[in-house]
Amino acid sequence: MKALVLLSGGQDSTTCLFWAAQKYGMENIAAIGFNYGQRHDIELDYAAKICQGRQIPFKVVALQNFDPSSALTNKNLEVDTATPANAPPNTLVEGRNLLFLTYAAIHAKSIGAKVIVTGVCETDFSNYPDCRDIFIKSCNVTLNLAMDYPLVIETPLMWLTKAQAWQLAESLGVLDIIKTETLTCYNGIPGQGCQTCPACQLRQKGYDNYVRDKKDI
Ligand code: ZN
Repeated sequence: MKALVLLSGGQDSTTCLFWAAQKYGMENIAAIGFNYGQRHDIELDYAAKICQGRQIPFKVVALQNFDPSSALTNKNLEVDTATPANAPPNTLVEGRNLLFLTYAAIHAKSIGAKVIVTGVCETDFSNYPDCRDIFIKSCNVTLNLAMDYPLVIETPLMWLTKAQAWQLAESLGVLDIIKTETLTCYNGIPGQGCQTCPACQLRQKGYDNYVRDKKDI
């Protein structure tokens, strides 16, 4: 059984990489990343480094002319620092996961992988519609029909809080790797990041809650 992991080089997808390695065996996993003009494209260097050290094949797909209304792909826009109520922040990239999963499915079929693993999460997150479980299930059916290929999309983080995602990293024995060798920050600063962008704030809040929950046990 081969599994293909969507890997951005951030906390969530890197945790998923090690989750898949434990479930399927390090030698049975491959990774795919996307250069879609994201302001923090340096994240892909971190993804590549994680894979290189472990002989995990890593394919990077370049996607051009992505959503100009998103602050992630349009560097002339400022990233929203406050999360709007009941609306996605301007870091939403419209259709991103639909495109990513389509490219991932094509690559998965070409390497004989029947499982795709993605770190999308519906809990604790920012109203991104394409991170919802209902979208993933719908996309899974569509990809199977589009390609006549029995793919299964697995989402180990879907119902975890950010604190629980840190706990998962700890239980996989990769807490330090996730802390120091991943990049989540929209400003491209690894590890603890800039501490001010929304991605850093979410990551830090999750980590603080994880530490607090450990003390409570
Ligand atoms: Zn940051």
